[in-house]
Amino acid sequence: MDPTLAARTALVAACARLAARGLIVATEGNASVRLAGTDILVTPAGRRKDTLGPADLVVVGLVPDPARDAAVRPRPTSDLAVHRAIYRACPDVRAVVHAHPPAALALTLAGEAPDPSLLPETAALLGALPVVPFAPPGSDELAERIATTLAGASSEQPARAVLLERHGVVALGASVEDALDRLELADLLCRVWRDARLLGWRSDRG
Ligand SMILES: [Zn+2]
Repeated sequence: MDPTLAARTALVAACARLAARGLIVATEGNASVRLAGTDILVTPAGRRKDTLGPADLVVVGLVPDPARDAAVRPRPTSDLAVHRAIYRACPDVRAVVHAHPPAALALTLAGEAPDPSLLPETAALLGALPVVPFAPPGSDELAERIATTLAGASSEQPARAVLLERHGVVALGASVEDALDRLELADLLCRVWRDARLLGWRSDRG
């Protein structure tokens, strides 16, 4: 039996959940799972994520290898550098999920940084949610900025999700379900924050 089958099945289910929650449209979003050894399983580039089957996912190495990378088919997500950088920076992380929740894009476009500590659920379950300054999607610069932000978070409240300026959310977890839970909580916080602002609320903390 394929030793990666359980990871493939979990990743396909995660993609379906992202779409069902309205967190991705068209070919947006990507996700990955850490495999045994130094490989990761990632979603392919240019595909609707809610139409993927287990065989559509791609095994790549954690460390870039030009010869191996050039031969990989189908082509992996264009955000591969982000996934690789996170796994290298955070040895405890087993899964990474990325999506473009509209409220998250709107808030960072408006210069807002929603504070998870203001809602009991996000304070308890989401932890810190730092904002990563804009860098082009798919770039090594974006990957480095995310890894630096995660590594620089306080050890008392480690960041396991980040907001990307004008781009979306990246969430990490001990499993793909754990990462998805965190991404949904980040989306919830952003929607509540946006709605509260529209109702006239002004925080002195963000
Ligand atoms: Zn993206």
